[in-house]
Amino acid sequence: MYDMIIIGAGTAGLTAAVYGVRAGRRVLVLEEKVYGGQILSAVEVENYPGIRRISGYEFAENLYRQATELGVELKYEKALKIQEKKGEKLVVTGRAGYPCRTVILATGARNRKLGLDREEELTGRGISYCATCDGAFYRGKDTAVVGGGNTALEDALFLSGYCRKVYLIHRRDRLRGEERLEESLRQKENVEWVLESRVVRLNGTERLESIAIDHKGVEEELQVPALFVAVGQEPDNRAFLSAEELDAGGYVDAGEDCRTKRPGIFAAGDCRAKGVRQLATAAADGAAAALAACAYMDEIRLTEGAGTHR
Ligand code: NAP
Repeated sequence: MYDMIIIGAGTAGLTAAVYGVRAGRRVLVLEEKVYGGQILSAVEVENYPGIRRISGYEFAENLYRQATELGVELKYEKALKIQEKKGEKLVVTGRAGYPCRTVILATGARNRKLGLDREEELTGRGISYCATCDGAFYRGKDTAVVGGGNTALEDALFLSGYCRKVYLIHRRDRLRGEERLEESLRQKENVEWVLESRVVRLNGTERLESIAIDHKGVEEELQVPALFVAVGQEPDNRAFLSAEELDAGGYVDAGEDCRTKRPGIFAAGDCRAKGVRQLATAAADGAAAALAACAYMDEIRLTEGAGTHR
């Protein structure tokens, strides 16, 4: 019996795990792919308090080591559902069912797709959602990035160091990312801004060869072997909670204390409905969720204790 099972080994999940074990609880983290979460694809992190500059990979590695050295167990299994029986919970994976007292959902969010024909088929064959992972394959080539947020801006900056030319395609006439990134991009002679434009078609036989973009009703073709999609994220919580427990966008409806509408289930990080999704707020959520889970276990114990004395 685990005290806490945490679903997701990103910043929120691993922070919750650190707080959980430090509070003397038995903690299991379930992760489908690799630990680290979204920060793994950040080239550099400069806005985490107390750390002046660190790569996303190193940040994730440090947090993983901190958690496991403190005694957190991590299993690489995809959590499929949560079953409830007499106040206890069972987190079911493809391999087993793990009983526990509380569950912390730290499922993050997955990359949003453009929703174009052939997008899935060409993923890994020119379509990528991670410039830092795949950018080096396109050294000396022309590439494109679609999106107008910080991720797209950082991707375009990163790729400008490898690629001959980078088209930055955004649907509106102004970007949404931070001014300092926009300013750095302006200095890059090999980045061309393609504003008020949408990618409408992906062309190529075996691999991506070109993309068609629509600029105010006029179509143009860009010869690029790679398109980096950076159009935000969306959550994936439907396996664990019902529609009434999620908001309209699918994020978990839980407040700053990270308590969901279901007793004993908490939500931390990007999967929770909130205004700011940053590394610092993911860590803050992890701490809040773990402490709320500890308080919940204490409440239950007190109630059970009161029941036996009566
Ligand atoms: P984001 O801020 O949500 O931006 C998504 C961008 O994609 C927006 O410009 C949006 O356009 C565009 N978009 C959405 N759906 C689209 C579609 N179907 N077709 C074309 N364009 C579409 O996402 P993000 O850049 O991944 O950033 C997510 C969060 O992480 C943000 O809070 C961001 O600040 C943070 N972040 C921080 C850092 C850092 O601090 N170093 C780095 C990366 C990310 P509109 O603008 O028209 O809505």
